[in-house]
Amino acid sequence: MPKKRSKELLELVRDIGGEEAVEVIKALEKKGEATDEEIAEITEIRVNTVRKILYMLYDHQLAEFRRIRDKETGWYYYYWHLETKRLPEILRSRKMKELKKLKQMLEEETQEIYYHCGIPGHPKLTFDEALEYEFQCPICGQMLHQYDNTKIVEELKKRISELEKELGIKA
Ligand SMILES: [Zn+2]
Repeated sequence: MPKKRSKELLELVRDIGGEEAVEVIKALEKKGEATDEEIAEITEIRVNTVRKILYMLYDHQLAEFRRIRDKETGWYYYYWHLETKRLPEILRSRKMKELKKLKQMLEEETQEIYYHCGIPGHPKLTFDEALEYEFQCPICGQMLHQYDNTKIVEELKKRISELEKELGIKA
């Protein structure tokens, strides 16, 4: 797999399944095809967890398996491999979703003037809400000041234009 694609795959998998899922993906990339037990051995992750991760990857259409029956024991063995055909599509739809969310955030930030006491985590109030509380923070009681969101707006705009560029939807 090309380096960039592989990096994107790892980021995606980290997002949906955490570090252990990344280890499973790396093992699959290295082995090509492996059973859950082989992956557990390589990654030193419990086999039950490996199985859970594999089915999660399967749900996301990032892994598939071959089922093979052992003629002597009659047991079934599952040989797993990565499936990256749909990766570009998955990445694109996730980016589209993020873009939509960022645009919504930008709209909220630019539509209203907010008031805030300056303490992180305390609520940002609209003018009407601030008026209701007589311009005092409903949590700590400190004076509310007009909230300067220039930096947030700039950052949002930057991320939006980066994403739009990546998605090829902006000149
Ligand atoms: Zn406060």
